[in-house]
Amino acid sequence: MRPSSLVVVANRLPLDDNIAPDGACEWRRSPGGLASALHAILQQTPATWVGWSGAIGPSPKLPSIGSLRLRPVTLTEQEQSGYYEGFANSTLWPLYHDAVQQPVFQREWWETYRAVNQRFAEAAAEVAGRHAAVWVQDYHLQLVPQMLRELRPDLLIGFFMHVPFPPPELFMQLPRRIELLVGMLGADLVGFQREQAGHNLAQLAQKLLGAEATDDAITVGERTVRTGAFPVSIDVAEMRALAARPDVVGQARQLRHDLGESKRILLSVDRLDYTKGIEHRLTAYRELLRDGHVKVRDTVLVQVAVPSRERVDSYRDLRDRIEGEVGRINGEYGRVGEPAIHYLNQRFDRSLLAALYQAADVMVVTPLRDGMNLVAKEFVAAREDETGALVLSEFAGAAAELSAAFLVNPHDLDDLKQTLLRAMEADPADLSARMRAMRAHLAEHDIMAWARAYLTALDHTGRLARRLP
Ligand code: UDP
Repeated sequence: MRPSSLVVVANRLPLDDNIAPDGACEWRRSPGGLASALHAILQQTPATWVGWSGAIGPSPKLPSIGSLRLRPVTLTEQEQSGYYEGFANSTLWPLYHDAVQQPVFQREWWETYRAVNQRFAEAAAEVAGRHAAVWVQDYHLQLVPQMLRELRPDLLIGFFMHVPFPPPELFMQLPRRIELLVGMLGADLVGFQREQAGHNLAQLAQKLLGAEATDDAITVGERTVRTGAFPVSIDVAEMRALAARPDVVGQARQLRHDLGESKRILLSVDRLDYTKGIEHRLTAYRELLRDGHVKVRDTVLVQVAVPSRERVDSYRDLRDRIEGEVGRINGEYGRVGEPAIHYLNQRFDRSLLAALYQAADVMVVTPLRDGMNLVAKEFVAAREDETGALVLSEFAGAAAELSAAFLVNPHDLDDLKQTLLRAMEADPADLSARMRAMRAHLAEHDIMAWARAYLTALDHTGRLARRLP
């Protein structure tokens, strides 16, 4: 492999496995996201993406993605369990999301997490050219920046945290907190979704490492690490093109017809995760039905809950609780042929999502904590007609940008109920003014702008460090 001048390191390669009509498994580039953001940049730069394919054991044969080379990292069953399901998703994930679910820590997970991070760092060191930029993504790989710096001090290293970075009181609970902190501070630039995360990191570095820290720079020993907020976004053009496709428009019309032409459609699309606030939302909806503010004959809720991390106990328990509650609500309030809630525990492709976004009257996005929430942005991008309401949790990163949404505190059941009613009953002129403001923001801040802003800042950091003009 020729050395690359840009290397992206992420838990997953930008691929989805897809079952072909003949039953064979094939790999395709995942739509949207980082891969398309980098597409334009990658045209000029020899680049490699280091990541796990998602399959256990030896890597399957993978397609190439234009000029982007793929460097798979393999994982054993035991590593998937200790690194991915264990330390990343049962310790860090809940803790970084305000501990809305009690984090679990098993000592043997740590060793696996460290060993897998080391393997990712070694793979990146192997493919990166001299003075290349390496961009490490997310909480799965928090030790990689420092490991990589030890292997290859010549590299320019970036780290971006897609999930929230918690306040010191929470982070301090983590066993191995110093190693985790030092791991990410191995980067030249640490990027976050929101500014608050930068304050949190600065405070932690002062407290745990005695570093000198401001909100955008942390000095540990000889080195200065820059930090900043770079809110991630979506491929707006791709979503708009999808939403405008005649078959998608037709499908949206069909969905409206099937759900009831005269009905108000509420829509939620989440991974089935305890951070997404699905239970709080269902409780609010049940109370609205109970109080008679919402009637099944004129309103319906469509809840897509995509299966997620199903080998982790807390996710299986959550699914049971949600499905029990949906059953109880439908049992109590549904009518023959008219359920109160359409519940779908499936993953849909993007064209059906685009149709659902267009069919909905009110999009309900109420996570208890979320790094960004791309679904909220996709809904806005899909509404070419500038109609529709977005109810959005204050605790989603997207709320910092989409301030024209109906913002809500999902922990406050009364606020949740009232905000849902306000959004359902809002004046169409108010809705389109809100939608226009949100669409104008998104048009300027798509995923390409995000990648460009981050990589420009990383490059600038490198120039500062090397005292180049
Ligand atoms: N998504 C999908 N199919 C589905 C539901 C969701 O492809 O049935 C996609 C959705 O379009 C979005 C992503 O999954 O791009 C979810 O991202 P988000 O930031 O909202 O939440 P996350 O799952 O990353 O916590």
